[in-house]
Amino acid sequence: GLADRLQTTIQKIRGKGKVTEADVKEMMREVRLALLEADVNFKVVKQFVKKVSERAVGQEVMKSLTPGQQVIKVVKEELTELMGGEQSKIAVAKRPPTVIMMSGLQGAGKTTTTGKLANLLRKSYNRKPFLIAADIYRPAAIKQLETIGKQLNMPVFSLGDKVSPAEIVRQGIEKAKEEHYDYVLIDTAGRLHIDEELMQELRDIKELADPDEIFLVVDAMTGQDAVNVAENFNDQLDITGVILTKLDGDTRGGAALSIRSVAQKPIKFVGMGEKMDALEPFHPERMASRILGMGDVLTLIEKAQANVDEEKAKEMEHKFRTASFTFDDFLDQLGQVRSMGPLDELIKMMPGANKMKGLDNIQVDEKQIGHVEAIIRSMTKEEKERPDIINASRRRRIAKGSGRTIQEVNRLLKQFEEMKKMLKQMSGMQQKGKKKGFKF
Ligand code: GDP
Ligand code: MG
Repeated sequence: GLADRLQTTIQKIRGKGKVTEADVKEMMREVRLALLEADVNFKVVKQFVKKVSERAVGQEVMKSLTPGQQVIKVVKEELTELMGGEQSKIAVAKRPPTVIMMSGLQGAGKTTTTGKLANLLRKSYNRKPFLIAADIYRPAAIKQLETIGKQLNMPVFSLGDKVSPAEIVRQGIEKAKEEHYDYVLIDTAGRLHIDEELMQELRDIKELADPDEIFLVVDAMTGQDAVNVAENFNDQLDITGVILTKLDGDTRGGAALSIRSVAQKPIKFVGMGEKMDALEPFHPERMASRILGMGDVLTLIEKAQANVDEEKAKEMEHKFRTASFTFDDFLDQLGQVRSMGPLDELIKMMPGANKMKGLDNIQVDEKQIGHVEAIIRSMTKEEKERPDIINASRRRRIAKGSGRTIQEVNRLLKQFEEMKKMLKQMSGMQQKGKKKGFKF
């Protein structure tokens, strides 16, 4: 996938002491292919490559002491920028209720996402959501939302399918106001394709509801189509944000990377499954990290679950998620990873793994793992649990005890620190119960 290709490319340049324009050109050729293959919009790819190339051959990179690393930093920054830079927050109306209108094609996930979003608003933001069923065309649409409402124990307003959507919305908002709900979520109808009748209906609802947010729900699996739909809906409705669903599926990732720059609207949430808790705020930087392979803990956990006993895997997952593991756990991991086979591949999935391999050497060999193990074994129990107490004299002692250099000890401590930091960052994206990872 995209991540694999980008990572291979990146590892080639990572350790270079000197980066020439030819190196950058070669790398960008690969990046370009990787993005196109992931179904990223070609105009977006062109712009991206141009921007990264310009920065990569600029002073900032070429004159730096670690040009290889700097190029990667540029790629990561630009990927983050491509997906909107900052995380984009959900609107709050000055006077409640905040009105959110959902829109999108049939099957994109509007109704499901309406429930998921309401659930998230209540759970993470402590809000009181009120749902309105305004899809009067699909036979079971109202029922579907009512079922979701029942499951979440939230009110669902409907007037059957004989009243116009705009009128349903008008009365629904009225009621939500009277009963002091602070978020109103409007589920609307979709079509298989964009047509004028649908757009007119959505414009009518918009006019009446005066929403604080108009979310377009798009299916990430549809790739380029998702991007076209986003552009089209934005032209006609002036949406405020996108919710990308089905990112848990076998998507190539193109939509996540293209939507922002084509439709000029931020991705605000991503759907990661069918369950009501499978919606997450979208963090561009975390996503960029993930694409660039700063670790794929989920995949690692999956592998572990297939290979190690259930109990142990659960414990490991918890530790990963809370970033509360120690050097002892780390040692344990190395042992388990070893027994899981192809070492290179598994190690690559550990966050910070790229950095563990030294500068030039991207091969992970048994010998190096042995060195790391020796260093950790030379630590006292207390040091393994609280690495921050390892001062200069302790470092000397550990180096001596393990037969490694102080530099190696320093490097490991630093890598461990960074790995923990990264795990902490990523923990938001990987919530309990999720089995599948992004398949970028
Ligand atoms: P609507 O026609 O836009 O209202 O779409 P629905 O909400 O009815 O969803 C269509 C299908 O997509 C349903 O089977 C949902 O369970 C499924 N779905 C929605 N979001 C996600 C998601 O993030 N991941 C997965 N795997 N399925 C999803
Ligand atoms: Mg629906």
